[in-house]
Amino acid sequence: MDEVTGAQLIAEALKSQNVEYMFGIVGVPIIEVAMAAQAAGIKYVGMRNEQAACYAASAIGYLTGRPAVCLVVSGPGLIHALGGMANANMNCWPVIVIGGSSDRNQETTGAFQEFPQAVRSSIYGRPGATYIDIAGDMVNAKIDRASVRFVSCCPAPPVSQADSREITQAVRLLRAAQRPLIIIGKGAAYARAEKEVRELVEVTGIPFLPTPMGKGVLSDDHPNCVAAARSRALLQADVIVLLGARLNWILHFGFPPRFSPHVKIIQVDLCAEELSNNVRAASALLGDIGAVVRQSLALQSTLPMNYYTAFHHISELLPKDCIIVSEGANTMDIGRTMLLNYLPRHRLDAGTFGTMGVGPGFAIAAAVLEQTQKSAQRVVCIEGDSAFGFSGMEVETMCRYKLPIIIIVINNNGIYSGVDPKTWKEMEKMGDMTTIAPPVTLLPEAQYEQVMSAFGGRGYLVRTVEELRSALQESLDNTQMPSLLNVLIDPASDLFNYLQASRISTYFGAI
Ligand code: ADP
Ligand code: MG
Repeated sequence: MDEVTGAQLIAEALKSQNVEYMFGIVGVPIIEVAMAAQAAGIKYVGMRNEQAACYAASAIGYLTGRPAVCLVVSGPGLIHALGGMANANMNCWPVIVIGGSSDRNQETTGAFQEFPQAVRSSIYGRPGATYIDIAGDMVNAKIDRASVRFVSCCPAPPVSQADSREITQAVRLLRAAQRPLIIIGKGAAYARAEKEVRELVEVTGIPFLPTPMGKGVLSDDHPNCVAAARSRALLQADVIVLLGARLNWILHFGFPPRFSPHVKIIQVDLCAEELSNNVRAASALLGDIGAVVRQSLALQSTLPMNYYTAFHHISELLPKDCIIVSEGANTMDIGRTMLLNYLPRHRLDAGTFGTMGVGPGFAIAAAVLEQTQKSAQRVVCIEGDSAFGFSGMEVETMCRYKLPIIIIVINNNGIYSGVDPKTWKEMEKMGDMTTIAPPVTLLPEAQYEQVMSAFGGRGYLVRTVEELRSALQESLDNTQMPSLLNVLIDPASDLFNYLQASRISTYFGAI
């Protein structure tokens, strides 16, 4: 008969669950468990206090996603480990604590079958601490190996997505935001969602703030990291995306005066009980952070760009020494924060008098100077669609003198705001547009790029991020002629717009 001891079975059961590390302090009756663990290929680290052993084991769980074991004796050993278990539970980190206890004739039994269950309950759902109690006499009891059956290794936790209607709501909120902020917590680190979170930040251009252990999911020196202005970012944000962080003391409970009393929270967490804790979530996304962020990115890519997305990609491609000419309302306001200047006298905008229509003239002057000085610095003229209208015909001047100016029209179909083509058509059906069309609107999706191509320059109609990047790169490469990028963005891309749109929507049912 091939005999195995209880200790060997424990060790082999752990090994078959891919448990690789054990931290603890041995004593009767669990010395043999530690020895058997080593024999089974598990690394054993003897510590000086069970509390530290449990901290160590739970950190392995956080860092690898697979639980480690904290091995303790009964009584004081287990009591010392409690601090570590509480810490693991509060951190949502998996750990398995194994405690040896008195022999079975002195109390009730614990069985080996509990191992797979312990692994599963430590990592499934919200991760945390689990405890297994081993009766002392089972450690050295022998049984026939043939009678033992190991349960197969517990697979990684299943990943769930959020309700698609909630995703739609979240994306709407985010696009209507004026000062959005993403908070990255240690849940995002544990979820290994760095790729998805990076894409969310870089596609939307939204600034982010890491919690202490959320640091490094995206690096602290990322241009969108606003950790240096933490208090201000928290207070001024109107919509916050909470990725794996709780609104507890670390985040001042989400309450004023640290947060705006009107802040809307889009909360992503895999623990249903956590949703709307302390602050009612405007959108509660129950699911895995990586999966939920992918869902919302898929939805966003089917929608028109907003200011942040457009400016984010423009700023990535513009050379640091370019001369930025800018005018418009939102275009100039948001552009001021998103498009950086590195050199003096390289920004010209609506200025002291707030004059609209100055852009093309300023751009022509800058380009003529560049030509005279034979410098290779590019002139980029970023215009709201309304602002462009004031002096748009100067495009002919640019073409006549072959000035390689790049005009980017950020086109939201109006002054401050506009409507989409469908709504516009509905309004036209209702009768006299002079009594119906909101005074802020301009013709939806006007093809301003054709003004440029009419005179021999390059005109681009841009709807997507890919089109924006390739048109801008082509324009930067072209030093012979001016270009115009007509960037169609969401006409409901800022809060004012959003209100306007919802006012209009009361006429038309829904948008
Ligand atoms: P921090 O200390 O960084 O603020 P917290 O510990 O308060 O972070 O919050 C972490 C949150 O992340 C917990 O509510 C936990 O349920 C959640 N979480 C852990 N893993 C995932 C995951 N894969 N997907 C979604 N949420 C997760
Ligand atoms: Mg937190």
